[in-house]
Amino acid sequence: MRLGVVLRADTIIRDEGFRQRRVVTPYGPVDRVFSGKLSGTETHFLYGRFPGGRTPSWEIPYQANQSAFDELGVDHVIGTFVVGGVDKVVRGGDLVIPHDLVSFSGPQVSLPPTSGRFSNAHVIPSMCPRLRELLIRGARESGIAVHEDGLYFGFYGFARIETLAELELMDRLGARIVGQTMDPEFTLARQRHAHYAAIAVAIDSYHDMRDESDQDPEEFRARSREAIRYGRERFERIIAAGLASVAREPLAQVCSCARTSKGKHPDMFASFPEELL
Ligand SMILES: [Zn+2]
Repeated sequence: MRLGVVLRADTIIRDEGFRQRRVVTPYGPVDRVFSGKLSGTETHFLYGRFPGGRTPSWEIPYQANQSAFDELGVDHVIGTFVVGGVDKVVRGGDLVIPHDLVSFSGPQVSLPPTSGRFSNAHVIPSMCPRLRELLIRGARESGIAVHEDGLYFGFYGFARIETLAELELMDRLGARIVGQTMDPEFTLARQRHAHYAAIAVAIDSYHDMRDESDQDPEEFRARSREAIRYGRERFERIIAAGLASVAREPLAQVCSCARTSKGKHPDMFASFPEELL
């Protein structure tokens, strides 16, 4: 396993002596990768989805990020996220390891095929059962409470957050959390047949703050900052504990994320015989 993690993993980078490197990609250089080993696993932290200050989510350099992982030979990707809580179960500060995502319409980007022929990414199951097991074991073994499943709803109503009606709809559809950045990161990783899993921290709960006009923006911002700090620190511990656990005892789950067909029509869903089209 060569693991890529999108996370500002300050503690591990400092304590484990991870080395910063510059990766040149067809989409520009990526100079915020920190590389090292955790429990024997080659691990590359992408220090945030974007360089520097805060960037609108549609300006995130998703292709450069995935291309950097390509250059490093990363075949397992863990995305970490700051999200909103949607269902009644999740509260502000809770951690969630999503089991699936809904992403109807987001930034539409893809990467050139490595095989010379475009094919749609296979995404059933979307989240790799083995990487999810790694995260769940890491959480259990480090004593950190997480929701071990949940539907992530991708929301793309730039440049605003969700309306009350949109949140109610997501809740009715069974979403646990909502965010803006899992896709196309997830799709690009799956285009490369990488195993992909995610872990998120909810900064708030829709059911706890139905009327945002009642909220003090300063209090909200302070709570968000605290949830992000709390989340990042827990993500690091969970991933480190998960990798240590896997070094001791192999994962039990199986997956088909990396499977590719060598036949004439490598994609059973999207590559219909051309003569029929
Ligand atoms: Zn997998």
